[in-house]
Amino acid sequence: MEYVEHIVDLVGNTPLVKLNALAEGLQPLILAKVEYVNPGGSVKDRIALRMIEAAERSGALKPGGTIVEPTSGNTGVGLAMVAQRKGYKCVFVCPDKVSEDKRNVLKAYGARVVVCPTAVAPEHPDSYYNVSDRLVREIEGAWKPNQYANPENPASHYHSTGPELWSQTEGKITHFVAGVGTGGTISGTGKYLKEVSDGRVQVIGADPEGSVYSGGTGRPYLVEGVGEDFWPDTYDRNIADRIIAVSDADSFDITRRLALEEGLLVGGSCGMAVAAALKLAEGLGPDDVVVVLLPDGGRGYLTKVFNDSWMSSYGFLPPDSSGATVGDVL
Ligand code: PMP
Repeated sequence: MEYVEHIVDLVGNTPLVKLNALAEGLQPLILAKVEYVNPGGSVKDRIALRMIEAAERSGALKPGGTIVEPTSGNTGVGLAMVAQRKGYKCVFVCPDKVSEDKRNVLKAYGARVVVCPTAVAPEHPDSYYNVSDRLVREIEGAWKPNQYANPENPASHYHSTGPELWSQTEGKITHFVAGVGTGGTISGTGKYLKEVSDGRVQVIGADPEGSVYSGGTGRPYLVEGVGEDFWPDTYDRNIADRIIAVSDADSFDITRRLALEEGLLVGGSCGMAVAAALKLAEGLGPDDVVVVLLPDGGRGYLTKVFNDSWMSSYGFLPPDSSGATVGDVL
């Protein structure tokens, strides 16, 4: 019989899928590392598992303990799934702008979700940051993974994503492209690929226009999960050879094309990373092998990137886009 002991045993070892229509007219082979096939649905399953196991080893997380993290998205799902396996409780703190659907996903895994007002300053006692710190102090046996400062975040990619890419491409990868949020993916994967190839593999960060990584100040952008207004400890500034800034309009356009033309229903940061990979590929040749990492799936964005009215309201589609085509019953 073929089975695993628990769903968590399936984290990692995600496939590489060739981009066809989107790569038309470009010379390199462009491969997507499809992270939505992780059991929690995103690349963050990798860091959740490693951060928890390291905390168990160090004694920071004890049997029956509680994981407290300010997160509303993918990291929360990964942590909640691993916590279920290992018998820990989870409390996630998220701002009130986070959709009910996203909160319900976390609750479905058994997590408690504490909602904080968005409209207060970071120093206010009810702010997102202060509430999670207070919960860590007040809950006995609480441990905060802190994905923005935890070295196990990049380490998880150094030990899993990087070696997977090297072996899947039989050492032929020449360029690695990833969006930058905490910087864990690019720093850990990039470090491994640089080391194993004696510096031959080029590492390219994709960043929303306005974020600090591409020289901005954190000006608002709509693509989720990437870009920052500060420099996290988990971002290693010595890894990326180049950062490509991508507009929201281009990110969302490519995100929708990935579903329509490649059958890949993925999130907005995937479109951003692919937009950067396509721009990079314009200057490359037929022997180059570009791998672009797609962090999550598109189901969490149906009311945004994949909703024509939402897209029109931000000017990404013409105002009369009803989404209807000839033949639709209206
Ligand atoms: N895309 C999405 C959807 C994410 O949730 C994240 C994580 N914040 C990233 C990209 C960026 O990954 P990293 O934090 O490893 O830089």
